[in-house]
Amino acid sequence: MNSTAIVWFRRDLRLYDLPSLSAAADRAESALAVFVLDDALVRPSGAPRTTFLAGCLEALDADLGGRLLVVSGDPVQVIPELVDVLSVDSVHVSEDFGPYGRARDEAVEAALPASVPLIRTGSPYAVSPGRVRTKAGGPYRVFTPFKRAWLDHGWHSPALTGPDTVDWLDPDAVLPRGRIERLGRAAVAELLTEEASDAAALPVAGEKAALERWRAFRDGGTSELDRYADDRDRPDLDATSRLSPYLKFGCLHPRTILHDLRARTDDGATTLRSELAWRDFYADVLFHRPETARTGVDAKFDRMEYDSGPDADAAFDAWCRGRTGYPIVDAGMRQLLAEGWMHNRARMIVASFLTKDLHLPWWRGARYFMTHLVDGDLASNQHGWQWTAGCGTDAAPYFRVFNPVSQGERFDPSGDYVRRWVPELRGIAGKAVHQPWKQAGGRTAEPALFDAADGDRGYPPPIVDHAEERVVALARYRDL
Ligand SMILES: Cc1cc2nc3c(=O)[nH]c(=O)nc-3n(C[C@H](O)[C@H](O)[C@H](O)COP(=O)(O)OP(=O)(O)OC[C@H]3O[C@@H](n4cnc5c(N)ncnc54)[C@H](O)[C@@H]3O)c2cc1C
Repeated sequence: MNSTAIVWFRRDLRLYDLPSLSAAADRAESALAVFVLDDALVRPSGAPRTTFLAGCLEALDADLGGRLLVVSGDPVQVIPELVDVLSVDSVHVSEDFGPYGRARDEAVEAALPASVPLIRTGSPYAVSPGRVRTKAGGPYRVFTPFKRAWLDHGWHSPALTGPDTVDWLDPDAVLPRGRIERLGRAAVAELLTEEASDAAALPVAGEKAALERWRAFRDGGTSELDRYADDRDRPDLDATSRLSPYLKFGCLHPRTILHDLRARTDDGATTLRSELAWRDFYADVLFHRPETARTGVDAKFDRMEYDSGPDADAAFDAWCRGRTGYPIVDAGMRQLLAEGWMHNRARMIVASFLTKDLHLPWWRGARYFMTHLVDGDLASNQHGWQWTAGCGTDAAPYFRVFNPVSQGERFDPSGDYVRRWVPELRGIAGKAVHQPWKQAGGRTAEPALFDAADGDRGYPPPIVDHAEERVVALARYRDL
């Protein structure tokens, strides 16, 4: 055989259960592990995601015995150049189904010599986009039938790969000096973590940490998975898996999780399977309708009347900083800034507030999320936003407007989530924390809570009246 392959890592920063690595080993004895720092992806990412990526690359490099080649540049130039320099016979990737990734891969494929194939094996999904189809052969537009068909379709068993599946080439030994610049760990960290001083407190990066997190969530009689079905909607309990950053960068594949759950029919396992189906569903929707990264699945909502101008900008700014005066909204937004992550229930509440109480377009909030989320993923984010805004696939009807007070009282019943993230309100016990304006004496008697002249000190009064804005939102909806 004696041939050489490139394993080009992208959103699959792991060595176990990696079908593209298996495919490389079928064709070649040795392989070069490559990651290309592509400015088109790094630029819009924001510090939490780039910092976490730097950690994942460092962990992967360590798992490869220091043999990961990280290069900065445009993959359309970098990959063919490596192929040329090393006389590579095949290039292996996990297939990317996003709008940018598909176009990039077609361009790389076209730039490779005819004798060197770009071989796509596996994808970041349990079932790749485009596979689950209706009886008529089209895509599903609604989640529940998609999930049924997704479960019927099933998925492969994990690929049997690991660090020793191929002989990894040492980039320092095989690359001619001066032609391709290898970025060392320090240079990668410097490029990706320049805003580290205000970066969020992030989880430990890499494949080992992902597997540890998954096992801790899965195992034991009183594991979080056992309570997941009951507690996953409670931001105060922190009862979800927190696997999203690892799934985003492929440190762990959903198939690994689904395989571990194969014999389990309990509520926790069934609910987690369903959440992973949402992830695949949104990727499928974006695959079939790539324009929905920017426009509504239901395009009529693009014509909706949205607020703009200085007041709208001030409201947006208050929302971003967690200073809307609605405690559950502010707790969510502050968790995002502190951790680069927000609980799913809080994501829905803050998204509803932005679109239906502040009358701002969903894509404004979605863009902010994509900058600050460590798990920011185009398909899940844009469609999570559209679902909440009411213009997406399988949408909650537009007229269902979340009430931030009752949502808080229901899902943070003792107020612990709010007190954790909004220290100004720690003096208010129990669920009363969701309506601080009702404290004895109200605004005037409690300057520490409400003091408009106080800049950012004190807790602000509500910037809008939810009951009034709900009426405005419904009127605009009717006008459509
Ligand atoms: C407005 C909004 C924006 C969102 N943006 C993103 C995003 O950018 N990236 C992202 O991964 N998720 C996003 N989600 C979905 C969800 O909030 C997160 O996946 C979840 O909070 C991650 O935490 P976890 O890993 O503890 O979730 P768990 O509850 O433990 O779920 C396990 C996994 O299932 C998947 N999952 C769970 N819920 C959803 C969902 N509603 N849609 C798609 N996949 C889901 C995720 O991969 C998650 O890691 C968004 C949801 C909303 C409402």
